[in-house]
Amino acid sequence: MTVDSPVRPLKVAVVGGGPGGLATAIALAKIPKVEVTIYEKNKILREVGAGININQNTWNVLELLGAAESLTSGHPTLTVLSLNGRTGEELHRVERSDKGCHTTIRTQRTKLQSALLAHVKPNILQLSKKLERIEDVGDHGVRLYFADGAIESADLVVGADGIHSVVRDCAWPTYEIKFTGTTIWRALLPRSELKALDPRFDITAWWHLPTSHVYFSPVGEGFSEIAARELQDPKIHGASKASWGVPVTNEYVESHFTEYLPQIQAAIKKIPTGAWREFAAFAGPELTQLTAWNNKVALVGDSSHALSGAFGSGAGFAMEDGWILAQALAYFTNDLSKALPLFDEIRLPYYRKMYAHLEEQATLMEERLQLLQTPSEEDKIDSKVIKAGGRNMDWIYENHIGKIWDEVIKRFEFQKQTIQ
Ligand SMILES: Cc1cc2nc3c(=O)[nH]c(=O)nc-3n(C[C@H](O)[C@H](O)[C@H](O)COP(=O)(O)OP(=O)(O)OC[C@H]3O[C@@H](n4cnc5c(N)ncnc54)[C@H](O)[C@@H]3O)c2cc1C
Repeated sequence: MTVDSPVRPLKVAVVGGGPGGLATAIALAKIPKVEVTIYEKNKILREVGAGININQNTWNVLELLGAAESLTSGHPTLTVLSLNGRTGEELHRVERSDKGCHTTIRTQRTKLQSALLAHVKPNILQLSKKLERIEDVGDHGVRLYFADGAIESADLVVGADGIHSVVRDCAWPTYEIKFTGTTIWRALLPRSELKALDPRFDITAWWHLPTSHVYFSPVGEGFSEIAARELQDPKIHGASKASWGVPVTNEYVESHFTEYLPQIQAAIKKIPTGAWREFAAFAGPELTQLTAWNNKVALVGDSSHALSGAFGSGAGFAMEDGWILAQALAYFTNDLSKALPLFDEIRLPYYRKMYAHLEEQATLMEERLQLLQTPSEEDKIDSKVIKAGGRNMDWIYENHIGKIWDEVIKRFEFQKQTIQ
């Protein structure tokens, strides 16, 4: 759809006020003749979960959004350890030096959200707006139906509504996500309490057993995060796993980690009653297009690539998506028929590479275990850790979405000149 009229702005509905939705709205609000509204289902904008990594790629996009300076707290994560959760043996150590102008940090999720929110224009965020479905109304764009009975319309709907996306369910009706078997429990605790149990709890580290791990990391402002996860058989546990940020009892969490070192069990026991939140990890296959309904729907963030936090940088990916979508719209002066295919062209191969990487890693781990024929518990732990490290992941963690965009534009301008 081309917007010819100088009067009517392009109406964009962003569904979801997570990192992807907020970043998309910030970037879109800078484009002339774009009217953007964020519809968020929660009464108050809140981030569930504990900490989040801000890698160089995420800093790069925060800079482009103008929000980097608003993120002022966090803990540097240049040293990252992997240890055996039963013996305490150090299995792997990563010592990083920053290549960009910001230090890689782990921060509280709420801090990232506040930093973004500070740059969202007033009055464009509508809360308590739970989307129930969208409808393709041809030349009239897309109609949005909300749980409170309201009906809105838009020229473009951006699905930033996370892994259980309603926008995706409507526009990609055959797409399915499945429980991966991994359940994650997360909570925050005063940093000093953890450090007193074991000084290594003050370093960002994974403590592994064959089918589970416990992650410790300071997250700034005197707090540390514990994120404990366990893999269960999805065939047995799949049916009941719809939880995301759901409170669970301490006894329930503790019962999954009884084989760990005493100080790890003691750390888990320190979490105050009612503070644990459970997250069931879902994942889905690669999409062949991130846009639908003849360029009237686009997906950003977790809705478009259900990777279940696999690279620990999903908030960065979501913000990169939103920023690129806005650049494409600005470049083609809000012509959706040109901008959305360009968005697909830039972001699809990136996600394809991630899916391919995960597949390769799973095969490698399988092969390693098969070579060992009857692997011991320790072999299984080692094989997990090798899986996590070893590869150069600069294409993710050093990604500079601004430079990617500059290259695309250079190519476009070059093509224009050669045609003339
Ligand atoms: C265990 C774990 C650890 C992770 N660690 C990291 C990390 O360290 N660094 C990192 O960058 N990423 C990490 N991620 C990934 C990251 O959390 C996500 O990729 C990121 O939050 C995706 O942002 P989003 O905006 O796409 O979706 P979300 O953050 O899920 O936001 C979606 C928003 O849409 C709203 N919404 C949902 N449905 C509707 C509806 N029907 N109507 C209206 N609103 C709706 C929700 O309330 C929510 O506000 C991790 C993920 C997991 C599971």
